Amino acid sequence: MSTETDFLIVGAGFAGLVVGERLAAAGWRCVVVDRRPHLGGNAYDSKDALGVLTHRYGPHYFRSNSTKIVDYLSRFTAWHPVEYRIKSHTGDRYWSFPINLNTFEEWIGRPSSTEEFEAWLEEKRVPIDEPANSEEVILSKVGRELYEQFFEGYTLKQWNRHPRELDASVCARIPIRTNRDDRYLREEFQALPDKGYTTMFERMLDASPGLEIHLGIDFEEAKARWKFRHLVFTGPVDEFYGRRFGALPYRSLRFESESFDAEQLVGREVISGKPGFWQPAMQVNYPEPDVPFTRIVEIKHATGQQIDATNIVREYPKTWTPDDEPYYPVPAPDAAEAYRRYAELSAKEESVSFIGRLATYRYYNMDQVTGMALAEADRLLARYGKPD
Ligand code: FAD
Ligand code: UDP
Repeated sequence: MSTETDFLIVGAGFAGLVVGERLAAAGWRCVVVDRRPHLGGNAYDSKDALGVLTHRYGPHYFRSNSTKIVDYLSRFTAWHPVEYRIKSHTGDRYWSFPINLNTFEEWIGRPSSTEEFEAWLEEKRVPIDEPANSEEVILSKVGRELYEQFFEGYTLKQWNRHPRELDASVCARIPIRTNRDDRYLREEFQALPDKGYTTMFERMLDASPGLEIHLGIDFEEAKARWKFRHLVFTGPVDEFYGRRFGALPYRSLRFESESFDAEQLVGREVISGKPGFWQPAMQVNYPEPDVPFTRIVEIKHATGQQIDATNIVREYPKTWTPDDEPYYPVPAPDAAEAYRRYAELSAKEESVSFIGRLATYRYYNMDQVTGMALAEADRLLARYGKPD
């Protein structure tokens, strides 16, 4: 096995594999390592014991407004178009969510109109010109009742922080509409890789003979094993620097997965609305504080897999410790300040690139990380050119 490479890439998620694919396509030798035993980072999917395709680290709804990013990924996958629709569950009932005209009708218990809902919101809204945090952003759009019903408890559980201690951008991820559009996301392109994310990444590797992949290997081990010219690091930036300014805050999760065969699902359609499913939507959010999980995901609603079994995953938020996966950077002013010191160090590195959600400490979606990796590959190719 070669012990020399041009690029050592740490992390086999979207960031690492996309940059690796681009560099390898230009003829550079790349070694990608990941300490986890699989490809795909948090987007990894695989079949459960009953054959149901499952998102192992929470639901991964691909969406994008960038044709460049979609076109790039389309080289490695076809798409299964899906409009992501979810529900919220409180007071023992399911609500249309994100908030839209249907939610309002459920709230007031009778048919209504966009005009009436807008007038109602006008009365309830708290006038705040420039919302500075996640509480203000929702209060300024829908007022206190709907904020308390759908946002406050969920956010407290998910982040263990009050919405007023989080950037406005966190709760502003969720659209609020006065028409009947009840899609969870805003982006124009909404679809899943038709055979799943892992298959898409496997095809990326098949198309890249210059891209070597080693799973179950930590950066420390890789550093001792390969000589390299340039490092691309997609892991946590504070870990890279030995947490010398202290650990950055992350939020972690515990996933609890449960599979159901056809027999176990008998009678369940009373709740799910169709045979072969456990709940009425791909995702049900649970904002109430006495429920210990934030959401239950039944991804079969989204993948469209034809199988009579199903799988659900409950998400229990958890304070991060060094033994946990750092699933979320915390979008809050104190965390941004703590990151700033690491960012100053990483900006000075000439032969190390920091990309992806963990290395740049940003609450990025998959398409944004893909865009960042494509841009970094362009920058590296402009700098190093083509191999001799
Ligand atoms: P990661 O996927 O985290 O990959 C980094 C990899 O680096 C990991 O596999 C890790 O094991 C490895 N690594 C780290 N440090 C080291 C080291 N020292 N040595 C070796 N390997 C190392 N995005 C969407 O667009 N839509 C969604 O619906 C969506 N839902 C999400 C739900 C959850 C619960 C979570 C946590 C994220 C979600 N995301 C979603 C975000 C999405 O997961 C990320 O945008 C994307 O996976 C980031 O890719 P990445 O390569 O930057 O990081
Ligand atoms: N959120 C909420 N209630 C919900 C859904 C979301 O309060 O029913 C808030 C919560 O703070 C969450 C944020 O909006 O962290 C973003 O939600 P999203 O579903 O985009 O989170 P992700 O899928 O990234 O975990």
